[in-house]
Amino acid sequence: MEQKKTYINGNWIDGTSGRTLRSINPATGEVLAEIQENSIEDTILAISAAKESFYQKRDWRDMDAQTRSDILLKIADKIEENLEEIAKIESMDNGKPLREAEADVDDAVHCFRYYAGLIRTPNGGVYQVNSNFGTMHSYEIHEPVGVCALITPWNFPFLMGIWKLAPALAAGNSVIFKPSSETVLSTIKMFEIFDEAGLPAGTANLVIGPGSSIGNLLAESSDIDMVTFTGSTAVGQSIMRAAAGNVKKIGLELGGKSPNVIFADTDLEAAVEWAMIGIFFNQGEVCCAGSRIIIEKSIKDAFVKRFAERAEKMTLGNPLNNPDMGPLVSEKHMKDVLSYIEIGKEEGAKLVCGGYRYTEGECALGYFVRPTIFDECTSDMRIVQEEIFGPVVTIQTFETEEEAIALANDTVYGLAGAVFTNDATRAMRVIKEIRAGITWINCYNPAFSEAPWGGYKMSGIGRELGTHGLEEYQEVKQINMNLTPGVLGWYER
Ligand code: NAD
Repeated sequence: MEQKKTYINGNWIDGTSGRTLRSINPATGEVLAEIQENSIEDTILAISAAKESFYQKRDWRDMDAQTRSDILLKIADKIEENLEEIAKIESMDNGKPLREAEADVDDAVHCFRYYAGLIRTPNGGVYQVNSNFGTMHSYEIHEPVGVCALITPWNFPFLMGIWKLAPALAAGNSVIFKPSSETVLSTIKMFEIFDEAGLPAGTANLVIGPGSSIGNLLAESSDIDMVTFTGSTAVGQSIMRAAAGNVKKIGLELGGKSPNVIFADTDLEAAVEWAMIGIFFNQGEVCCAGSRIIIEKSIKDAFVKRFAERAEKMTLGNPLNNPDMGPLVSEKHMKDVLSYIEIGKEEGAKLVCGGYRYTEGECALGYFVRPTIFDECTSDMRIVQEEIFGPVVTIQTFETEEEAIALANDTVYGLAGAVFTNDATRAMRVIKEIRAGITWINCYNPAFSEAPWGGYKMSGIGRELGTHGLEEYQEVKQINMNLTPGVLGWYER
């Protein structure tokens, strides 16, 4: 069996914790690879390497933007050259259908290219100001934050990593990256590419191991200037507390329970198709999943009938064969999702379709759950309030626009949301009332490197992607230059 290593200070090393992490293919239960987990001591080494890289060696930080951009473009090219291999690794390790893994890697290529270009464009304002001190030329420059710890989840292992690594590196920071232990293989490939592309040693360091120990150390360490995290809201809260010690900058991309609001005047067939993409894409293991359908009462029955017909037809199978859905990421996660389905039944929601582990044919040994629709749901149910993170969707109805908005906003989360209607004025009115950072009108899920991504309320702090995504990894310095000649004579006045 293949043994994988981690990458610290430009060297491939075995973790020294004495524990081995096994990467499991969730479609078959087979062990794909073994990795020696990193210890606290390894993590301290990685932090020291990043610190030395940023504060002493300064090679990446002080590199001119053009050369840094060239290296980022080289990374993008190498990811593109290895797209098929990375997508296959991702599909086998995470369970997502191969075509979805290919799309993730393609997005990662474009994300690197976007930030490679962005750091060569001017940023920051220039102001000519008059104050009591005379005429001032005031301008701002953006500088890297310093040593950044980046912590990611398992649902889009490669892409979520790149959403952090591309802007953090583009800005000139040195980083320590910790992926989820569930899915480390595509990340190891990513670091092989960093190495080949000539990223200076110590600029990007990889640590692999439990969040509760090494993740927590990264959040806590006073040698780290910033921690950015994508994952569950509960862990985000713990990172926020741990980061308070040295008042680290933080970025948090957390959970969601997003509303998909459908009005009666919409194209029903199109709304069904987008609702499918909203909840069943990536097995429903998507932070922004449209997991709460809130639909106008008059069309609910017709919608549910068609939605269930389409869901029943979905194919499940080995992700490398491109079924509609693959397995959930692990046996434990499958059990968590199935237990939520039991909770839904006990709470009195009406199970319309799915709701069980699927073991037909090539799915016999994997962690597959059929697409599951619960009708007749109410806001007080746990399945409506809590993030399930699987292919499970709830249906609630409304009769007025005000009721739809109230239902849409009735959770602690505020990550995403959508509105379906043919009335453009209403679409704008309702979307503006939804307290969420990522919203769609008459579609669900599209995301772009150029547009900001992040949540309101308990779904997070800060934004990834777009120009905001770069600014998260930068400090802004104000420089005020006196343009008034001679002595000011302030005290003679
Ligand atoms: P998780 O919170 O369990 O783990 C995420 C990462 O945090 C992992 O690397 C884990 O090892 C680490 N971690 C765990 N405990 C830690 C601690 N105490 N200190 C520091 N790090 C720790 O999340 P998950 O199960 O891997 O992913 C699913 C969650 O991620 C869902 O809630 C989903 O909504 C969220 N998510 C959000 C976005 C977004 O953009 N908002 C995107 C993808 C996933």
